Amino acid sequence: MNKEQLLKVENLHVSVGDKEILHGVDLTVGRDEIHVLMGPNGTGKSTLGYAVTGNPAYSVTEGRILFDGEDITDMPVNERAKRGIFLSFQNPLEVPGVTLSAFIRSALEQKTGSLRLWDFKKKLAETMKLLQMDASYAERDLNVGFSGGEKKKAEILQMLMLEPKLAILDETDSGLDVDAVRTVSEGVRLYRERVHGSLLIITHSTRILEALHVDAAHVMENGVIVKNGGAELVGAINESGFAAVNAQD
Ligand code: ADP
Ligand code: MG
Repeated sequence: MNKEQLLKVENLHVSVGDKEILHGVDLTVGRDEIHVLMGPNGTGKSTLGYAVTGNPAYSVTEGRILFDGEDITDMPVNERAKRGIFLSFQNPLEVPGVTLSAFIRSALEQKTGSLRLWDFKKKLAETMKLLQMDASYAERDLNVGFSGGEKKKAEILQMLMLEPKLAILDETDSGLDVDAVRTVSEGVRLYRERVHGSLLIITHSTRILEALHVDAAHVMENGVIVKNGGAELVGAINESGFAAVNAQD
């Protein structure tokens, strides 16, 4: 594996139960690159995100996943997180009894070992301020009673605190109001500036892409990637739809 390559997905077949959803996906994301994954609903985009992060409900039946030069295909989810893979869910879980602050602290400790409370609190407060999030958020139970926009903000905060090498954002911008989209865009910009990590952005909209330099775009249909291109692909799809763009070659 080329050392500039951070994530390399090779001929990936993924099943849920006995139903195969991904039928041989190939995808390479370089260091410090922004990739966009598009495609109609139900084609397997979220499934790819879950397979890369190691969700046990999604089993790899063929192919492999390399991350940072290491084969992670059979690695448990926490080991992958430790190596720097982060997924922002399309539908984040609510966790009663665990505050957002405690959740982030425990995730960070899993990754880096023990952490002084003072240092953690300082970094959390500083990051929340950058995201223009009210500090009281951190003491609320994770996602319980959060609006759609608040859940997304909470995830962007997690991303900035955990500093992953690769962040997969799954429809992080869909259904959000203008302010929430702005927070997500600002969070992504800060992540790039501070962490220099790579991004795989699964999206239907161009709103959070406007301020970013997209290195590559991929189109998935029926569990395979049917088209690869540059930033221009995103614009072409938004203008004329998947069918027209795919018919072009
Ligand atoms: P996308 O994100 O592109 O909309 P998904 O990856 O969510 O697509 O889903 C692809 C297909 O796999 C769909 O037919 C969906 O119903 C099925 N699928 C995904 N996850 C599960 C699951 N946990 N259990 C059963 N079917 C699933
Ligand atoms: Mg999805």
